[in-house]
Amino acid sequence: MTEPRIDADPAVLREPPRDTPVVRDVDVLVCGGGLAGIGAALGAARAGARTLIVERNAWLGGPATSALMNTWNVPVERMTGITREIALALHQRGAGVVGGPTFPFDPEAFKDLAADLMEQAGVELLTYSWVADPIMDGRRIRGVIVQNKSGRQAILARAVVDTTGDADVAAAAGAETVKGRETDGKMRPMSVLFRLGGVDIGRAVDYCRANPGNFTADPNFHILEPERGLVRLSGFFDIADKARAAGELPDEVHYIRMEGISVERGVVMVNNSRVYGVDGTDAWDIARADLECRRQNRMIFDVIRKYVPGFENAWVMDSSASVGVRETRRVRGPTVLTQEDLLARRAWPDSVAKIWRHMAEGRDWHKADGGEGAADDAVYRWATTDLTWFQIPWGVFTPNGVDGLVMGGRTLSVTHAADMWTRGQYCCLVAGVAAASAAAGETLPAGLDVGDLRTRLADQGIETD
Ligand SMILES: Cc1cc2nc3c(=O)[nH]c(=O)nc-3n(C[C@H](O)[C@H](O)[C@H](O)COP(=O)(O)OP(=O)(O)OC[C@H]3O[C@@H](n4cnc5c(N)ncnc54)[C@H](O)[C@@H]3O)c2cc1C
Repeated sequence: MTEPRIDADPAVLREPPRDTPVVRDVDVLVCGGGLAGIGAALGAARAGARTLIVERNAWLGGPATSALMNTWNVPVERMTGITREIALALHQRGAGVVGGPTFPFDPEAFKDLAADLMEQAGVELLTYSWVADPIMDGRRIRGVIVQNKSGRQAILARAVVDTTGDADVAAAAGAETVKGRETDGKMRPMSVLFRLGGVDIGRAVDYCRANPGNFTADPNFHILEPERGLVRLSGFFDIADKARAAGELPDEVHYIRMEGISVERGVVMVNNSRVYGVDGTDAWDIARADLECRRQNRMIFDVIRKYVPGFENAWVMDSSASVGVRETRRVRGPTVLTQEDLLARRAWPDSVAKIWRHMAEGRDWHKADGGEGAADDAVYRWATTDLTWFQIPWGVFTPNGVDGLVMGGRTLSVTHAADMWTRGQYCCLVAGVAAASAAAGETLPAGLDVGDLRTRLADQGIETD
């Protein structure tokens, strides 16, 4: 190993140049194996491209597995392409409930299914590997350097898809990016979720039925249909208010939210810790937020067990493997999608995905300012949502400033308000397929024939308009 050198500037360490082995040369390189990464890899491989996914975790799925976030806010009947395929496959494995307004599933089964789908499609997986640097030839990206147990390795590709959720590749490659809310850069909170076993769901539902005014009014977010295996609980406002006033709950927690529930197994996922004012692209903030979420969760668990009927014998099964980061960077591309576009159901000639979801104007489920579920928070107290749809144009996938790079998932060129609509796992998965189907072609992504792309997406069962 060559000695690093401390330069004149004591805050900077200048590393010596080094030779990095080129370990792969593929058609499509997918950086990040979360929701969009899964869609992207399958989209590319099924279009015939030699495809490799690089993922820092041991498994695929992003928040759906690593953060235990296991609910899609759309009925399965409205899903298209690979998303519907995944939902039905999970259902067949006894790990997902179809027929309701939302789709809850088992994160462990999702891990296995994602790996199976990659194997069937011939996608190569490199897990335990961090995408560290882009390999650039002027403004054209040629691949990335990964860091893993073997050291640093170079992977070359004809097209690179950035599905890191944080636009890590785009930012390092010099693409135009923004972070958080346009006005002040604030971002949605981070959370660590946890699952409880040993819950008497029937008793919890009886309590909710007997206290209807104490829960969120939206029938898509508070569901009491155990007979059909469908339960989602959002509220317990009186319990939360009293416990917070007594110092038993963190100041940030104004309601109790339980979803991804398996009625049959008595398993409940709790989505309540909230840390504000942290940046998911800052390593120190990530570490601090994770610890703070886990501190909050210990209080939340004690309150649930003490006060919520049906949870007296509950025990903590597991918690997010890593803190869930809801928002960081987004790119800027030829088009910037706004909430006004989505509300107007604007028809885009270059639409590459039509997305259904439960939504309504201003439903910011995770306001960057906090107060989620508080007495004056219309979103969680009395507002409702409709099953609506919107289109995503191709112009939000290609970042300004870098050629050969396609974005997927929550980093598309959309505004902070529009992100609340497009950040859902279902949408990210579909958008991933769109990204990679484009990347799999011979033309540079920014210059491709969108009509041709739309046809290829239709071949994969994706609804575009
Ligand atoms: C706590 C929480 C709750 C949520 N609740 C819901 C919900 O109820 N319903 C819903 O539909 N959506 C929900 N979401 C939103 C949704 O999960 C995300 O917006 C969506 O997963 C984003 O998809 P993505 O593919 O862009 O990024 P992700 O799914 O986050 O995937 C990014 C992937 O890239 C990997 N990665 C990141 N950086 C690197 C790197 N440098 N090198 C290698 N790998 C890297 C990550 O490990 C991850 O696997 C929630 C998100 C969070 C965090």
